[in-house]
Amino acid sequence: MWSYQHPGFTVHQLPALRDNYIYLIEADSNNTLIAVDPAEAVSVHQACRHMGKPLTHIFNTHHHWDHTDGNLSLKKDFGCLIVGAEGDAARIPGIDITVTEASPPALAGLDISVLDVPGHTNGHIAYIINDALFCGDTLFGAGCGRLFEGTAAQMWNSLNKIAELDGNTKIYCAHEYTLANLAYASAIDANNPALTARIVADKNRRKQDQPTIPSSIDMEKATNPFLRPLDSYFCRNYAAAHNISSEPLSIFSDIRSRKDRW
Ligand code: ZN
Ligand code: FE
Repeated sequence: MWSYQHPGFTVHQLPALRDNYIYLIEADSNNTLIAVDPAEAVSVHQACRHMGKPLTHIFNTHHHWDHTDGNLSLKKDFGCLIVGAEGDAARIPGIDITVTEASPPALAGLDISVLDVPGHTNGHIAYIINDALFCGDTLFGAGCGRLFEGTAAQMWNSLNKIAELDGNTKIYCAHEYTLANLAYASAIDANNPALTARIVADKNRRKQDQPTIPSSIDMEKATNPFLRPLDSYFCRNYAAAHNISSEPLSIFSDIRSRKDRW
């Protein structure tokens, strides 16, 4: 478990399943303890015991089993409240509180906002607390989620919302996929020195069994192939190399569909 201090709360990062991360958000000012996307219950239980605190809430970003499988068992044991997207209420096990961009969860001591970020799934949302973003399977280290339900245009719009956040915002995504994503990134963005530097740094982290997550908005803008279409110089070069339109959405769609075939 790794822990990161933020103003008003601490984020604890728990590895789970093969390559998931579950996050525990521990408020400074009260007993609020939130599990984001509990892929399973056991590691959350262990962490709660270690902290000597019961779980008060679960925040789900989307309905997939590797983000919700711990829901019912944790609710049974802790009586915690389960928060998820209004649009996905029917698919989130045990949901108690539905939220949208316009009606984020209201919890004492934490200033929480919600972004609707469809693309990976239709009801996918992200939670923002100060300088911490919990984005599930929307944005990954050097990658983005597959388009299981939404369109490329929806995902591009969702990624743009995320890219507008402050550059120092920490990205707590739900999977450790970074090295595999970086291999793809270097195949399509070979002449990017920021990417080359990131590959060295993140390979080192993994070699020492350290997470590459959290990343930051600035880091992703500089190196994530799915955010690179925000850079018009990158778009012109990519369009010329692949003989497609230099419009950012076309570039994003091409990079996304190539990744599926890669
Ligand atoms: Zn997913
Ligand atoms: Fe997932």
